[in-house]
Amino acid sequence: MAKKQAGKSKDSTVNDSGSGNETKKPAGSKEDGSIHSPVVAYASMLGLLSSCPPFVIFLWYTMVHLDGSASQFWDFCKQQGLQGFLRICPKPTLIAWELIASYAAFEAALQLLLPGERVIGPVSPAGNIPVYKANGVAAYFITLTTYIAIWWFGLFNPAIVYDHLGEIFSALIIGSFIFCIFLYIKGHVAPSSTDSGSSGDAIIDFYWGMELYPRIGKSFDIKVFTNCRFGMMSWAVLAVTYCIKQYEEYGRVADSMLVSSILMLVYVTKFFLWESGYWNTMDIAHDRAGFYICWGCLVWVPSVYTSPAMYLVRHPISLGLELSLGILIAGIVCIFINYDCDRQRQLFRKTNGNCLIWGRPPSKIEAWYETKSGEKKSNLLLTSGWWSVSRHFHYVPEILAAFFWTLPGLFNHFLPYFYVIFLTILLFDRAQRDDQRCRAKYGKYWDMYCKQVKYNIIPGVY
Ligand code: NDP
Repeated sequence: MAKKQAGKSKDSTVNDSGSGNETKKPAGSKEDGSIHSPVVAYASMLGLLSSCPPFVIFLWYTMVHLDGSASQFWDFCKQQGLQGFLRICPKPTLIAWELIASYAAFEAALQLLLPGERVIGPVSPAGNIPVYKANGVAAYFITLTTYIAIWWFGLFNPAIVYDHLGEIFSALIIGSFIFCIFLYIKGHVAPSSTDSGSSGDAIIDFYWGMELYPRIGKSFDIKVFTNCRFGMMSWAVLAVTYCIKQYEEYGRVADSMLVSSILMLVYVTKFFLWESGYWNTMDIAHDRAGFYICWGCLVWVPSVYTSPAMYLVRHPISLGLELSLGILIAGIVCIFINYDCDRQRQLFRKTNGNCLIWGRPPSKIEAWYETKSGEKKSNLLLTSGWWSVSRHFHYVPEILAAFFWTLPGLFNHFLPYFYVIFLTILLFDRAQRDDQRCRAKYGKYWDMYCKQVKYNIIPGVY
């Protein structure tokens, strides 16, 4: 249980109910929205805590030094054993810390200083309404323009980032772990709002987090920083870095690299155009700031999400114009459909259903629920447009888009496809978690929705 309630500022969070601190149930319980038994949930937490950091190093080493071949890595481990793996683990160097610190400081300054529209987030379980500053698009364009400009004018060579990638990932692994300890301590001693609490188990609190909307000072939102401005931004920055590194190494950027990076950049651009919509999603509105979401965005996004293009740096595959265009168009269509699903839901909620979905007034269900303080509230569930196809149809184009930006690497190795496979597992698990959470929240209204929209993700199949 959080011991103390920090003073809440009107500009950062508006309290809607004045409810007290919320206590979270252990993972695996229904109230937590978990679909797994406590034993499975606990084992998977410990498994992920211990396996994700070495996996990041394995992925980087194999992509950069072993031609992307997992079987070469296996042979290496058979010969050299654990000692061999420990030898290849890069130590965080001063330059790695400097690069991370300057990037983080730059992004934090943009987040704090750039002007932006005041955006109100969804009502939290404790009845708070978080307020954000929407300046992500400006931060995104300033970041990319600055990065390309300092390379163009010879002030900094982004190829250095690729050359020190292993050390950077090591530093990120350690730095982000320490940051998550800070979040855990902050959740206990100085939570930013009443949306904070402990499960009574230190490992669960560290892994799932304690605070929903941790802030530093009045307005520096930590999850906006870790998820959007550090994590998602690093994806775009690294996609540009990989192109520049290939250009420096081979004197050209192969069409395969161009297709993969353009698709990633279109996806990240879409993300920032829709950033205030993201603040209504599970990542921000339901998942607390802990190892799962924050370490994931600080380390997993730059290392794993960018890995298909990381692989391509040393594989300048020529696809030819037709194949390149085919993959590019297919990828852009998927990204657009994914965007349109999110846009429909956001528009529908924002206008209280007074909008057109696929050219018609939307059909809907008014779903009632109770906040933790016992207040009765309602939300509208959209039952037309993409949201009538299946309950999480937006995950299909999300997975396909990832497939299309990996495809330029062709099929010589399996490892570049790791991200697509990981994403598929993540989103199927997420769809189940979300279904369970919504059923716990809306009860019979969710059952009504499930009757109207039968399938969870793939229409006719699942
Ligand atoms: P969302 O949070 O956007 O959608 C689920 C929530 O929407 C539910 O919890 C519910 O919240 C509300 N909702 C559910 N059904 C309806 C409906 N019919 N009408 C209106 N509201 C509804 O999902 P995600 O956060 O999972 O996804 C957001 C985006 O992020 C997607 O584009 C997804 O593909 C992407 N994504 C990408 C990932 C990656 O790693 N690349 C990982 C996860 C997501 P409420 O309580 O408000 O009712």
